[in-house]
Amino acid sequence: MKFYRYHQNNSGGRLLVSEQDGITSNVWVEARNARIANALFDIIAEDYRSGCPCCGTRWDAASEDDGEDEPQTEDWYSWEKGKYCVPAATVVHYLDGRIEWLPVVELLPEARP
Ligand SMILES: [Zn+2]
Repeated sequence: MKFYRYHQNNSGGRLLVSEQDGITSNVWVEARNARIANALFDIIAEDYRSGCPCCGTRWDAASEDDGEDEPQTEDWYSWEKGKYCVPAATVVHYLDGRIEWLPVVELLPEARP
């Protein structure tokens, strides 16, 4: 099995987050291949697709090259419009339906973008 990452574009200037549905800035889906991961992700993110035309789509489909042996946490920050930056959160959707939130990686202030 592989893990495929879906990175959320903050279309419209904000990120959509749901603890219950496992939606945040970085979502990983366990699957046999990218085609199946994309089909699963379509269901997972069904209610989290809104965006504005100028900012582009909220999610891009994964390709086979995006497959990793293990989900990765992100060591960079997501920007919350006009205010401050927040650590990028990561959630994993396993094949058996289990949802796991990975610990947020804290950067030193000088390493922040
Ligand atoms: Zn826009």
